[in-house]
Amino acid sequence: MKIAPLFKEKTVFSFEIFPPKKTASIETIYNTLEALQDLKPDFISVTFGAGGSGNGENTLAIARRLQEHYGITPMAHLPCIHYTKDQIDTILKQFQENGIENVLALRGDRVEGIAPAKDFLHASDLIAYIRSKGNFDIAAACYPECHPEAPNLDTDIRYLKEKVNAGAGHLITQLFFDNDIFYDFRYRAARTGINVPIEAGIMPVTNRKQIERMVTMCGASLPRKFTKMVQRFEDNPAALQDAGIAYAIDQIVDLVTDGVDGIHLYTMNNPYVARKISEAVGGIISAAKKC
Ligand code: FAD
Repeated sequence: MKIAPLFKEKTVFSFEIFPPKKTASIETIYNTLEALQDLKPDFISVTFGAGGSGNGENTLAIARRLQEHYGITPMAHLPCIHYTKDQIDTILKQFQENGIENVLALRGDRVEGIAPAKDFLHASDLIAYIRSKGNFDIAAACYPECHPEAPNLDTDIRYLKEKVNAGAGHLITQLFFDNDIFYDFRYRAARTGINVPIEAGIMPVTNRKQIERMVTMCGASLPRKFTKMVQRFEDNPAALQDAGIAYAIDQIVDLVTDGVDGIHLYTMNNPYVARKISEAVGGIISAAKKC
């Protein structure tokens, strides 16, 4: 099932999961899927390492499992910077043959020591290519606090418009902890003529290490309310997890009240956290249904 039409009917609620590390068995993620399946998200997206060393076998296997075993619509991520056209052709063919209709088209991060393949320099190149290839529903990433390599947010949004023009039918944001930043970004995107649905990416923060990693990786601003929470509970992992879940719920309630197109929950493969949040916000997300 294609995802984009869902946004016309409802406030979309989706999850992100990632394949296990190379050293771990694929079975570990299947336990996570088992624990997530009855939450009935509108779709689950599956990440894909950008290194160019594999062909996304695990991403494909998990996406297939979601669809065939649990009847949950999958979205496969696809980063392109380290892949040649031939490799992308092979991956897309595999997606098509396995009934994977939804792709999150990404440039991916440059991996140190591996030269970019140069066939696709930006996500917009990949989006246009996928569009020319087959019948996929294509989504793209966006950055309310500006992509770290972009000189400023207006420039980044201009490139985002190119992704939409190339064929991205909906957007998913990088995580953020301050909803006002998202609202400002959404306004600027609309002003630039971006009129596709934008799903808000929400990451429930449940431990201190995760926060440090996230901030280093994506530079998300941390509001005072958030840093106070972390400082207060950092030595009590159970309390910090509860507080992180409550913070994410609070963000989601505000976003849904404001009419957000969708919520994409970065589950970090943690079914307990995903369940707590889904149970808390499921009712308001259904109530926000579009007529
Ligand atoms: P682009 O849209 O190509 O943008 C990258 C940079 O180039 C930006 O600074 C942009 O302003 C600039 N730019 C864009 N177009 C042009 C142009 N025409 N000319 C000049 N500059 C331009 N990474 C993975 O490896 N695997 C994943 O599964 C994955 N999943 C993700 C899911 C989400 C929701 C998000 C938000 C990110 C994800 N990432 C993933 C990370 C992503 O690959 C990185 O953030 C990467 O650095 C940028 O990817 P992009 O698709 O946004 O790139």
